[in-house]
Amino acid sequence: MAKEKILIVEDNKALSKLIAKKMEANPHFQVDVAYTLAMVQELLDAGNDYFIALLDLNLPDAPNGEIVDYMIEQRVPSIVLTGTMDESVRNTILKKNIIDYVFKGNVDDVNYIFSLIERLYKNRNIKILVVDDSMVTRGQIKEMLKQHMFHVLVAAHGEEALVFLEDNPDIKLILTDYTMPVINGVELTKEVRKKYNKNDLSIIAMTASSEELVAAKFLKIGANDFINKPFTKEGLTCRINNSLDALEYIAKLKEMAHNDFLTGIYNRRYFFEEAFSYFQEAKKNKESFAIALIDIDDFKNINDTYGHDVGDKVLKNLAETLKNSLKSGDVVARFGGEEFSVILKNCTQKHALEYFIKQVNAISKQPFFIENGKKFNFSVSIGVAFEDATSFDAMLKQADIALYSAKKNGKNRVEVA
Ligand code: GH3
Ligand code: MG
Ligand code: MG
Repeated sequence: MAKEKILIVEDNKALSKLIAKKMEANPHFQVDVAYTLAMVQELLDAGNDYFIALLDLNLPDAPNGEIVDYMIEQRVPSIVLTGTMDESVRNTILKKNIIDYVFKGNVDDVNYIFSLIERLYKNRNIKILVVDDSMVTRGQIKEMLKQHMFHVLVAAHGEEALVFLEDNPDIKLILTDYTMPVINGVELTKEVRKKYNKNDLSIIAMTASSEELVAAKFLKIGANDFINKPFTKEGLTCRINNSLDALEYIAKLKEMAHNDFLTGIYNRRYFFEEAFSYFQEAKKNKESFAIALIDIDDFKNINDTYGHDVGDKVLKNLAETLKNSLKSGDVVARFGGEEFSVILKNCTQKHALEYFIKQVNAISKQPFFIENGKKFNFSVSIGVAFEDATSFDAMLKQADIALYSAKKNGKNRVEVA
């Protein structure tokens, strides 16, 4: 992926170096540093395109914040670094079309800049839906959010919002007013929560401070947070960023709970949850399907001969191969050490057998390369069970027995229970 360029304009060399070093630790970012307005002009004239610029207000050739207007003219999204927290400076600066201003006092402030930039980098792929019956309010909020690089959709009432959500199921956050014609904000929240839970889509309610009970109503019905009108740009974006951080954190936890650390594919726990519920559903629908256990042959030998690291690579590689060979909806998981489990959904017995035989043959023929051009081959044994088993446990047991037969009958083969 192409790196995004960040421009740091700061004549305090120690500080600009510190910020640059921290930014460049993130592999997505590449940093240029300028100490004067003239240097900035040179960089822009040379055709450099910046994702974001950090601006010092006091430069040798631009001592009174002239850089800010210059960057706005050049349409470079900017964050202002200020040495003072003076109210009047803050007000003049914030009125301009900048993303944020940051006090450059200590290491914590540098950390804030860094997390803000990381947030902006992610925001570009995040859709927010703003729902408010006032056109002026909608417009103002849209502007604020666009400065923070979000994709913004606006709806004039709850009904329109539901239509937008239907067409854009990837909306991550809804910011909704309370009083609106047809469907109000609370009713909208209730509708949305029928399909999307709190951990997948965040809802922030905009309430008037006189409506204390309304905020509680929103939260009870499933809103993640609320903000009192009128609010500042900073107040709003901080709340939105907190909400999005929380969604990402939960998604990460989910991933850690469901995925195997080494190979990245699903883990045993997820396999059991998914396979068990699919078993019930398929039985009900009289759908034909297969479950298989796949075990690498003589894996201990691979570890002993080439080392544990190579063994790990073999596992990752096989996980990838299996994942890529499946159609969407099918599941492959790491069942244990060097054993994988697969569900082929809605699939005839004949087709399932053909698939597994093809895998066994392809895997045994595919050389595994290690350093110095050296290579070796390995094979797998597969035990398959079909849907005629009386329970999920019985089906898994059959697959295990079939796998045992495959090992006993010479390995590198498929057996059926
Ligand atoms: P068989 O053909 O009968 O399956 O023999 P095998 O050697 O493959 O099976 P065995 O159960 O004797 O040994 C499996 C080995 O897999 C032992 C264990 O150290 C190794 N193993 C388990 N998890 C990992 C892992 O995450 N990484 C590596 N490198 N090795 C692992
Ligand atoms: Mg094995
Ligand atoms: Mg084993």
